[in-house]
Amino acid sequence: MNVAIVGAGLTGCLLACYLGRRGLDVTVYERRPDPRGGAVERGRSINLAISERGLDALRRIGLEERVMADALPMRGRMIHPVSGPLDFQRYSRDGDLAINSISRGALNNTLLDAAESAPGVKVLFGHRLTGLDPATGTMTFETEQGDVLAEAGVVLGADGSGSAVRGQLLAHGRIEESLDFLDHGYKELTIPAADGEFALDPGALHIWPRGTSMMIALPNPDRSFTCTMFWPTGGTASFASLSSPAAVERHFRARYPDVVPLAPDLADDYRHNPVGLLGTVRCAPWHADGRVGLIGDAAHAIVPFYGQGANCGFEDVVELDRCLEESGGRWERALPLFEERRRENTDAIAEMALANFVEMRDKVASPMYRLVKNVEHW
Ligand code: FAD
Repeated sequence: MNVAIVGAGLTGCLLACYLGRRGLDVTVYERRPDPRGGAVERGRSINLAISERGLDALRRIGLEERVMADALPMRGRMIHPVSGPLDFQRYSRDGDLAINSISRGALNNTLLDAAESAPGVKVLFGHRLTGLDPATGTMTFETEQGDVLAEAGVVLGADGSGSAVRGQLLAHGRIEESLDFLDHGYKELTIPAADGEFALDPGALHIWPRGTSMMIALPNPDRSFTCTMFWPTGGTASFASLSSPAAVERHFRARYPDVVPLAPDLADDYRHNPVGLLGTVRCAPWHADGRVGLIGDAAHAIVPFYGQGANCGFEDVVELDRCLEESGGRWERALPLFEERRRENTDAIAEMALANFVEMRDKVASPMYRLVKNVEHW
């Protein structure tokens, strides 16, 4: 049985490793060129927090050590008020538990290497899925050489929140979906290393809670920090409202004063880095015709305020692999079983991620907020 995975992102690559281990014949189709050795896309989520849920999935196939070699453990949140002292809030009582700041690009490359070296797995770059007949498994890909047709016994959509596989299932009347976008978007900014050292404590996830806006920063192995600013995309107080370098500087001096001296390229980053959209994807069912399935963000993209989207995609892979085992390799059984077991959890994290936005931008700044919370979140 040959299996097509559409999307060589975090979920698709890990899935290829797991299915390769099962001895399946797997082809991964990715629309982008091979990212290894290439430039990083400007302003697109440079690092991410991986917690125990994600590490568990990596550990099961012997990848944890490789991924963790460059990880930076963050043992708590560092709250930056507009004025006054910083406030460190540990994630566990004795401070021994951490979430890990990991480079998205490095993680993706490690998973790509692992997928390509798994038996029976091949990865084809520059293949954008544009058509799929769920009844036959016939796929159309746009490539530099023109359109290419391919067929697979099973097609798994791991192609992210804007999934083309999901779009095809919708177009063929197999599923329903709802997309809820937030008024808030995000923009990435950089705090570079200062004299070769981290400009902030690298053992913490930094948060600047400011009510309707918020900024966070995670450390990188090159001793820089990537800041992610969350703010409405339109209106009087929004990304669009700061239209000159002077306005950017004024805004940051008023709202994020301690960041200004640490971020010399602030106005330039602000001007050039894109504003990303944030939303929740819900669809049902996650499978069709006993042979097509959705996994990761393609099935259930969430807003990033719990730092759990990728962790969740990794958990999906472990569960799908388990369902396949329990159903004796019969995909028509494994795919519904996977949905039955995962949906409750992914619905829950989608709600919790929305709720955590309010917590992060407002409540963590409260003097009453000294409770040690579960280490699984930002
Ligand atoms: P993606 O990473 O979106 O990968 C999809 C892949 O499919 C891509 O390679 C894409 O090029 C390819 N593709 C798309 N369309 C096609 C097509 N038509 N044909 C072929 N290939 C296609 N999660 C965490 O766990 N921790 C965090 O700290 C965290 N922080 C985040 C911060 C931000 C600002 C954002 C936006 C997200 C964050 N997330 C975090 C969520 C995480 O990024 C996603 O959940 C994760 O990337 C989903 O992985 P995926 O492989 O399912 O989808």
